[in-house]
Order: sequence, then structure tokens, then C-alpha cells
Amino acid sequence: MKVTAPAPTSLGHGLLVMGDLWNLLIVRTLLTEGPARFGDLRTRLGISDPVLTRRLRDLAADGLLEAHEYHASPPRHEYRLTPSGEELWPALAALHAWDRRWAPGSALRLRGALTHAACGNRTDPVFGCGACGAIGLSARDTTASVDRSVPFASTNPRRRYHRSASVGGRDGTAPHNGSAPAPDAPVAGAAVLADRTSTSLLAAALLGHRRFGDFQALLHDTAPHTVTTRLTLLTDQGILDRTPLRDGGRRHGYRLTPKGHDFFPTFAFLIAWAARWFHQDGRPGVHITHRACGADLLPRWTCNACNGELTTLTLTPPPEPT
Ligand SMILES: [Zn+2]
Ligand SMILES: [Zn+2]
Repeated sequence: MKVTAPAPTSLGHGLLVMGDLWNLLIVRTLLTEGPARFGDLRTRLGISDPVLTRRLRDLAADGLLEAHEYHASPPRHEYRLTPSGEELWPALAALHAWDRRWAPGSALRLRGALTHAACGNRTDPVFGCGACGAIGLSARDTTASVDRSVPFASTNPRRRYHRSASVGGRDGTAPHNGSAPAPDAPVAGAAVLADRTSTSLLAAALLGHRRFGDFQALLHDTAPHTVTTRLTLLTDQGILDRTPLRDGGRRHGYRLTPKGHDFFPTFAFLIAWAARWFHQDGRPGVHITHRACGADLLPRWTCNACNGELTTLTLTPPPEPT
């Protein structure tokens, strides 16, 4: 009997694309520094030619970037983000805010101060619901309903299941400087989302899952020992806490710490982005409702200097070291 796998959800597809450190760093570089040539990206990120080639090909196949020929013979290309890739800016702004709070000393964080282009002020953006205008929301102000009949990202082509360069809690510019980071080095948000399994587990935790069995069911094509390893890694990074389940038994579950909860805006934007650009893949996989207004959460960044909505990611570069 031939078993037909369910179509992946838009969330699953989105996690698959962005649950990869290199993809995230490539998109971030193009977003903050503009179009780049292959050699520029290679130098900037310290990435090997085959890995960069594969990531650029996959990101183009997923519609996040396009190659433009700037030299015909021999053919040379410049890479630029499509509207879909550019729309990841709010999620990257969320990671910027997370790093400022939890990993200010991390070498992998996005440098520079966030500026609101419309008012010209430096901003510490506030997360809110665009449907009703409420600001200062956290995961606790929302309810999530997960489509349990469809596992996260279960049916995607094997070609996408690369190992990330930085799995293992490494941070820093380790991809290029080669030196071992200190064991207590702060881990940037981008490095927490280093691979598909960690990213999907964090998404599952933010959507209310606690038990190993639930994590395993959502990532049903991931080996149990990989799920265990990544849960331990997220615990070591201070994102999850391993605590007894409140069921009277002796079993343990995983609960988000405040540091873990603070990833909510990043995932709210990723979920909204995936629903918009990968809806052709079937069901969204998840609905997040803003409890107070009852509408689907429409994630939005508000400038804390002028109360206007942020519509781009503008960074003021840090001062040059003297
Ligand atoms: Zn609302
Ligand atoms: Zn402003």
C-alpha cells in the first residue's frame, strides 16, 4: 500500500527555510547590506563555496532571492532579495532585540542600533497586535491552535536536510575564525535557530508543547536521539527548563524560560511570513489568536519613540573601533 504523506504546512515550510544558520545569515546580510556578489558573501560570512552555492540555490528555489547576471562572459551573478526575502525584516528585527537583551556580547549578533526611518530616532521597538493596536504583547496574551494532524515539515525533499555549520551551541564568528568559543560565551538568537530541529522544537514549545512525546510526534521524521540532543542543547542554552510534569508521575517535560519566551515575536513574524508566502503548501499548521481582541494575531512592531509603526529594518552602524 502506498502511503501518501500530507502536504507540509506553511509553518513547516517556513521553519525548514529559516531553521538554518547559513540561510539566516545570508538573508540578514542581503537585507542589511543590499545586493551582493558570490565572492562578497563568501568573504563576509566565511562560508565555503559548495555550502554557499547550495544555500543560494535553495533560497532561490524557495523564492527568497534572485540571481541577476551582471557579467555575461564568463557569467557572473549578483544576489538580491525578492519581496518575500525582504519581508523577513520584522523577524530579524526581533532577533536583534533578543540579542540585545540576552546575548549583547555575542559575536554573531547583528551590529548597529535600530532606527525608525520615519521619525529618525533610535528605537527599541515594542511588539503588538496590528488587528487591535495593542502593544507590549507576549506569548501569554495569545492562544495558539496547532493542527496536530500535520507534522511540522515532514514531507520536504531530503536535499533540504543539511547539517548546519554551527550546531552544538557555538557562537561567535566561529565559522571563519576557527577558534573555539568559551563554554559560557553568549549565544546569539541566530545560533539558537541553527538547525531545523532546534527551530522546530522551539516553535513547538512556544505553541504550548511540553512533553517529549509531543515534540517527537511533531518532528516524526527526526530520530528520537536527535530530538533529545537538541532539547538538551536548548536547556544548556537557558532556553528551556527541564521540570517535572504536573501529572503526578515521575516524568519530566520542558518549559520555556523567560529567555525562551522572548523568542515569541520572532516566531510570530516567521509564522505570519510563512502563511503569506507558502500558503500554496496546504494548511497553515497553526493559528495564533490575540486573546483580548479575539482576532488572528497580526504581528506588528511599534516605535517606542514616536508610537508609529515600523515598516523597515534600518540600522545605524556601530562606531568604528579606534
Ligand atoms: Zn489584537
Ligand atoms: Zn519612530
